Amino acid sequence: MVTDIEIARQANRKPITEIAAALGVQDEELEPYGRYKAKLNQSLFDRLADVPDGKLVLVTAINPTPAGEGKTTTSVGLGQAMAKIGKKAVVALREPSLGPVFGIKGGAAGGGYAQVVPMEDINLHFTGDMHAITAANNLLCAMLDNHIHQGNALKIDTRRILISRCMDMNDRALRSVVVGLGGKPNGFVREDGFCITVASEVMAIFCLAENLHDLKERLGKILVAYSTEGEPVYAKDLHAQGAMAALLKDAINPNLVQTLENTPAIMHGGPFANIAHGCNSVRATRIALKLADYCITEAGFGSDLGAEKFLDIKCRLAGLTPAAIVLVATARALKYNGGVPKAETAAPNPEALKKGIVNLGAHIENMRSYGVPVVVAINRFETDSVEELQYIEHYCREQGAEFALSEVFAKGGEGGIELAKKVTAACEQDNSFHCLYPDSSTIAEKIERIATEIYGAKDVAYAPKAKKALKEIAALGGGSLPVCIAKTQYSLSDDASLLGRPQGFTLHIRDLKLSSGAGFVVAYAGNVMVMPGLPRVPSAENIDVTDDGRITGLF
Ligand code: ADP
Ligand code: MG
Repeated sequence: MVTDIEIARQANRKPITEIAAALGVQDEELEPYGRYKAKLNQSLFDRLADVPDGKLVLVTAINPTPAGEGKTTTSVGLGQAMAKIGKKAVVALREPSLGPVFGIKGGAAGGGYAQVVPMEDINLHFTGDMHAITAANNLLCAMLDNHIHQGNALKIDTRRILISRCMDMNDRALRSVVVGLGGKPNGFVREDGFCITVASEVMAIFCLAENLHDLKERLGKILVAYSTEGEPVYAKDLHAQGAMAALLKDAINPNLVQTLENTPAIMHGGPFANIAHGCNSVRATRIALKLADYCITEAGFGSDLGAEKFLDIKCRLAGLTPAAIVLVATARALKYNGGVPKAETAAPNPEALKKGIVNLGAHIENMRSYGVPVVVAINRFETDSVEELQYIEHYCREQGAEFALSEVFAKGGEGGIELAKKVTAACEQDNSFHCLYPDSSTIAEKIERIATEIYGAKDVAYAPKAKKALKEIAALGGGSLPVCIAKTQYSLSDDASLLGRPQGFTLHIRDLKLSSGAGFVVAYAGNVMVMPGLPRVPSAENIDVTDDGRITGLF
């Protein structure tokens, strides 16, 4: 079998200046980073400000297996297929984090004949956005520790510091650390920790900011610590937001690349879909909507995490309306949801498929409840049997759901033509998009609606720490913000082992955190890892570079 990287290397790439020109981007609006990558600068945003938006298509999925179910692949393939049926589409995606690239999941640039290129660059340093975000976050941490060292005029309570350092790497040894060891010249000793860059609030802010001004304002609002008197301390109290924004001035411009079939793709920002909202930057979505008739975008994990946040956080805060939702389903994930161990999901198992299909049913219902037309994309794997695929189609018909078999992995755009037709038709249907809950509900009411209506929980239970946090957040004025629930991606519930469509369970909220710069409240359901670890055999062991600079082993 040809690997993704081999397919990517054979791509007939066009210089990025040509891709940009075909989109109507003018010379001075493009900042090329080499021959095949470029940034789109603010002058393009300014020129297109009054151009009407294209249609926004959200790609989401059922609850996945640990390998991912093909949302990125489907998004890219759908973009390629749109071009095949004569539609002008731009794909808008998150940029990959080095954690998953070197860990277990591999790259995030699609797969097979539905990829974005240059995949090696995109998966490694790309245009440096991740590093810039890391630097901005760590500058804030350095300024905070320095402030304490220099006399602590703000009386920061070193036991109540809320921000942590970050790094774009899976490194469990950094989860909990002690800083400031070594005596007086090294500052005050305190407990600290690292999160992965994509889990930082700076990343979430980066992805929600409309422009530099908004970015700076939001950075200033990051709640960094409490004082010994219990008063909140914000980044602006440390005068950090200006320098942080300065570090991000180029990074906030979206990156333009292309698919294997030369469809334009904008990849920008990449927050986690558990602790943060899980979709590419608002700036990338906005500019894609201005440049094309269709913007195809992905939200991380299953629709319970990614799409719910896309709709209730991103669309709410940015005033966006999706025209259609593509729900990716695979036979193997449905079998997994029917109780088959991950290693055995390739083998035919009609019983397990039948048992797990209720998971698809839940996601269809949930997405419909937002008032947006839904199309199920059945992402075909080589190992799928015809009977299995027919069974899924039959189920979709029973549910009255539009569906299409997608073969973009094996065939590129050609394999997504039916899907593209269904999606463009769905975009013309009635649309009564509405968020799940109003701003005015309390945080607890918002959590309850998500838990009962999207997850299928019977109720919500709060740990004592969470109850206290609810009060503190309300006192800080965070009560009107949307909620970002951090939970497992494997189940609709907060228990990864409850597959299919669990019912009658209680959602347990362990703690809450105010992300006041990003503008949402994170509610932790269970132990969500903000710094992943590497697996026993990390992908990194297979990645190499030849003497002449060719990367191998990325997938
Ligand atoms: P997601 O975005 O949902 O996490 P990806 O599109 O990144 O999923 O796909 C996850 C992995 O599965 C990638 O390695 C991709 O190449 C592979 N993959 C996706 N669809 C198929 C398919 N139809 N056949 C084989 N492999 C696939
Ligand atoms: Mg993806």
